[in-house]
Amino acid sequence: MNKRQILQKINALDTEGKDVIVLYNEISEIVAEAAYKDAKTCPSRRACYFSIEFLIGRSFYNNLMEAGILSEVKEILAKKGVDISEFEQIEDAALGNGGLGRLAACFLDSAAAEGLPLYGYGIRYKYGLFRQAIENGYQVEYPDDWQRFGDPWSFRREDQARTIEFADMKVRAVPYDMPVLGKRTNFLRLYQAEGGEEAQKISEYLYPADDTKEGKLLRIRQEYFFSAAAVGELIDQFVAKHGKRFAFFPRYYSIQLNDTHPVFAIAEFLRILTVSYKVPFQKAVAIAQKTFHYTNHTILPEALECWPEKYIKKILPQICAVLKRLDRFARRTLFARGCGDGEVESMAIRSGQNFRMANVAVFVCGRINGVAKIHSEIIKKELFQTAAKYFPERFCNKTNGVTQRRWLMLNNPALSALLDSCAAGWREKFDKISDLRKIEDDPFAIEKFIRVKEENKRALSDYIFQKEGVRLLPGAIVYAQVKRLHEYKRQLMTAFAISELYFKLKRGECPDFAPSVFLFGAKSAPSYFRAKGIIKFINAIAAMIAADETVNQKLQVIFVQNYNVSYAEKIVAGSDVSLQVSTAGLEASGTGNMKFMMNGAVTCGTMDGANIEIVEHAGRENNYIFGAEVEEIDSLRENGYDPAEYLAHDEDARRALDLLRTFPDEKGYYTELYAFLTIGASWHKPDHYFIFRDLGEYVAALIKINADYKDRADFAKKQIENIASSAYFSSDRTIREYAADIWRIKDEK
Ligand SMILES: *Cc1c(COP(=O)(O)O)cnc(C)c1O
Repeated sequence: MNKRQILQKINALDTEGKDVIVLYNEISEIVAEAAYKDAKTCPSRRACYFSIEFLIGRSFYNNLMEAGILSEVKEILAKKGVDISEFEQIEDAALGNGGLGRLAACFLDSAAAEGLPLYGYGIRYKYGLFRQAIENGYQVEYPDDWQRFGDPWSFRREDQARTIEFADMKVRAVPYDMPVLGKRTNFLRLYQAEGGEEAQKISEYLYPADDTKEGKLLRIRQEYFFSAAAVGELIDQFVAKHGKRFAFFPRYYSIQLNDTHPVFAIAEFLRILTVSYKVPFQKAVAIAQKTFHYTNHTILPEALECWPEKYIKKILPQICAVLKRLDRFARRTLFARGCGDGEVESMAIRSGQNFRMANVAVFVCGRINGVAKIHSEIIKKELFQTAAKYFPERFCNKTNGVTQRRWLMLNNPALSALLDSCAAGWREKFDKISDLRKIEDDPFAIEKFIRVKEENKRALSDYIFQKEGVRLLPGAIVYAQVKRLHEYKRQLMTAFAISELYFKLKRGECPDFAPSVFLFGAKSAPSYFRAKGIIKFINAIAAMIAADETVNQKLQVIFVQNYNVSYAEKIVAGSDVSLQVSTAGLEASGTGNMKFMMNGAVTCGTMDGANIEIVEHAGRENNYIFGAEVEEIDSLRENGYDPAEYLAHDEDARRALDLLRTFPDEKGYYTELYAFLTIGASWHKPDHYFIFRDLGEYVAALIKINADYKDRADFAKKQIENIASSAYFSSDRTIREYAADIWRIKDEK
């Protein structure tokens, strides 16, 4: 890209009296067009990343930074009297829900930075994840109409539109290409569904409710829609260039399935090869095995997709036939391999009256990976035990990462400037970040680091004031638990722990307690009753503490509204402590934990997901690990766990739990939460995420942190050690591993 030319064009823009959004569009278009020209060169071998979510966040600042013109544009605009931060009112494109979608975005960024040809394929939702407001303590959902600001980063490719056929309708899939800037320019291709009213619905919402038949059919349509569009396109491209010798297909394309949502791509691939090109079924499967790879993101049984056969048959009869045939083929193959009846059944693609999408992926895909060491072990030992026994060579681990360009350079300029002076070269070669370790013996440099943290906290406080109307307690320790709201992530346990701190403070038990702020940010799925109850409960605790003059200068709880990538950028920069407290064994990896680490927050958490590797790299003594580990949780699950046993010895825990019975409960949330913790439900035992096993240790860890923080310099050393050890958690490392071990693609720049 020609930087000078871009800057000249931006310089020539007339900004006088212009609306910020208009100006945003004009500048973005200039950069986007230059980038898009670059993106057109496709090398012969490439990898394609299929994902139902891409949680990109705000593109403007990131793309200007990647183009190497952010500071220049800032200056140009300043001269014209425009503050570049005004563009912050342009909200994020939230075409994703959480970690899985953000991972996809980090991977595209890292691949471009590493010169690797990796292309993203997904859906261009009209509405992203809902915009959340907290009203009266309750989550309220509003549609996220992200396109109201325009969409200057996308290029509509009418010329490459395709038709996707369902039994009851035809849908046009129109690609929109978004350049991904870096050393190489790649692109993210998002398909928009067009046609009649029903057709358009396919790309209207991210994750429409699927608790009804209609909802399930729509989800199936979404998944097939983008998978089929992308696979169809790749096959057409291949045939145009190389003819019909499909055995060569895997030489040119590697397809990574981000979880099971795009697994229909496998069925569509087999359908096209066998039906349109008459490739024998067995041969087609063998080709697919060399082409497709699968990343598992969760072991929670409710998240493993199963689609009723009758639904697939109704709208996708040919795909249904392919899946049935694949099931028969898989069964034969497995028997021939020596699998027993039970083993074959456990790997079956068609089971009961359902198709099990994870089993399709596991049977066909050449490589199957988990997203952190412990998670990759668990899927081999439990979830995909049989497959791991017969096809051990397919399984591998790729520990997640995050891009330091967005999650350090862009969001934390103050820390980045310090790194420039203490760890020179870190921007080009992130491993250099370990040089920061040198300053641990230098009191002046440590003091500088502490000032950087304070500056970021002030900026965070301003931001929160602007969004929520409250300021952080001055000089407080900032703890943050920001992530999707889910029972296994145990925000409820944090709420109980804070309640216990509150009781102790009221009794005057911690006279030296350093002021502490607990930040929460989380969206609950709209139909997730318990999660919504937990949001209300946290807000009730926040209000109780804020109203209590005796403690409200020591303790503060803030639940921020509409947690998203832009909010995350500010929060990770301004926090001291990262709360990562999932039940051991259930958080596949986590990536929020890595962002906090890079920005100098210590982890207070359980031995779960990537926390384990974070502690391996940064030292257990520099983090605060507590709670039952996987083996203990497994044994409690097997041999019986009774929360009452833990509650019996812990009066504060009982009082915390009792808040659920004392707060007014208009919607019946607390009654239900109380019941699930104490007596269980038809489908689970009481407290099945083991909150009361870990709560006592959690409170102790929080009190230890509070005491340790008193020696600010010593605490800063722990924070610095975490930053210095974070190179491994760059998604550049992750993507190099995928490129070398799975995709076999190389630097093409
Ligand atoms: C990183 C990120 C996540 C993932 O957070 P976890 O703590 O790993 O679950 C979710 N949402 C947003 C907006 C993020 O930036």
